[in-house]
Amino acid sequence: MLMPMEPRIVPRKEHRISRKQVSPNALRTLYRLYSRGFMAYLVGGCVRDLLLGRTPKDFDIGTNATPGQIKRLFHNCRLVGRRFRLAHLRFQDEIVEVSTFRRSADPSDTVEPDETTRDRRHVRHMKDANGMVLADNIFGTPEEDALRRDFTINALAYNIADASVVDYCMGLADLKDRLIRSIGDPRVRFTEDPVRMLRAVRFAASHGFDIETTAWESIRELSSTISRASPSRLYEELQKLFLLGFARPTFRLLEESGLLASLFPGLAGWVREKETHFQALDRNLAGVDDLVGSGQGVSVALFLAALFGPRMEETALARHREGIPRRQALDETCASFLEEISRSAHIPGRVAGRLNSIIALKTSLCRMPPRRPSTLAGRPEFTEALTYLGLTAGTEGERDEALTWWKTFLLENPPAESTEAPAEETPRKKRRRRRRKPRRRGENIVQEEGAAHGR
Ligand code: ATP
Ligand code: MG
Repeated sequence: MLMPMEPRIVPRKEHRISRKQVSPNALRTLYRLYSRGFMAYLVGGCVRDLLLGRTPKDFDIGTNATPGQIKRLFHNCRLVGRRFRLAHLRFQDEIVEVSTFRRSADPSDTVEPDETTRDRRHVRHMKDANGMVLADNIFGTPEEDALRRDFTINALAYNIADASVVDYCMGLADLKDRLIRSIGDPRVRFTEDPVRMLRAVRFAASHGFDIETTAWESIRELSSTISRASPSRLYEELQKLFLLGFARPTFRLLEESGLLASLFPGLAGWVREKETHFQALDRNLAGVDDLVGSGQGVSVALFLAALFGPRMEETALARHREGIPRRQALDETCASFLEEISRSAHIPGRVAGRLNSIIALKTSLCRMPPRRPSTLAGRPEFTEALTYLGLTAGTEGERDEALTWWKTFLLENPPAESTEAPAEETPRKKRRRRRRKPRRRGENIVQEEGAAHGR
């Protein structure tokens, strides 16, 4: 672990962060904490992004107030998290995260999990036998808090007391050099929390930064340990990796680092089989990035189709050629792929069902001329299936004809204004009502699994 050293304090006049760029809710929270005598800093990714001139996704606040003190100070506060206990302040259109400064544990702080430590809220620090951190709740100073963060560029702070930027571990220099550098020994840091390897890839892809050499070597060495992270956390990370407009560079880095092989061995093997396989996914994901870039939301099911669909369709076609009916071959292939994916990332049942429907409908859309086109166009997954067809059309030349046919059909038969949200966002009530309809014969039924979220 890096030893604390004199921080570099950059006064207001010498950096580019202005209070105007900070969300009014976060600013009010900072001032409220400060006016009650607590330290109040903007911390983490928002400081990095403000210094880069980017709009932060969210604003996180660090303070020396304890979770209990924060709760008493803000009526809109909810304490959350098991691994890290922190406060969520809920505003109309924003959640501001406030966490108490923490430090890394000394060996004497650490307990190993047993029957009595199942409820981690009461445990201050806990590591498993491999050194992975399971609970991390020991309070510390702002400096100690910075040093337990993942990368130097993520450890910068903005102090509301004097509007200065505080740099405890050369984050400003790495920001300038566009480098993702672990704080301390990357092998130790990635062992404590393997998800940090995915975070390194995410920041490299989204910010166009390089991963510093030792960190990169450590990722290649430890990539197989990513499977130790919980499937629900990996599902959340996957969304951040692929749905924020940087899926293509992310995929390349995952492939080169060995993380893809560890997360999805079947897919990684297929990608290495033929250059055309890699190219197909590369283009699909570039298409996903274009959609996100143009402001069109991409659902998890659609992105999973872009990533896993080509291999799924290839496998299903091979089974169909062996004599299994087309739809059955597709459903069985989809089910076995989902089982494989779910060993790493917990895919909620409704997303899995939607993925299956998108791929199945795409197959029907490609049948020329299509049977009962108006019925197909009325299916809830029609738009996504057509988008998926559009993504893959470039790599499968013969699909161009189908795409053109459907575009003409839609021009001649404009769809009625749809009020239906994508299945993933459909509220429970709506879904229940739809379920009462009799199921079509042969329609895939994927068991709903409870989505477990949480850090
Ligand atoms: P984004 O812009 O994607 O939100 P971020 O850096 O803000 O990026 P968050 O996941 O919001 O990422 O986390 C906020 C901060 O918390 C990070 O900047 C980092 O300092 C710290 N952090 C998050 N996850 C970890 C982790 N696994 N290990 C150490 N520090 C972490
Ligand atoms: Mg953030």
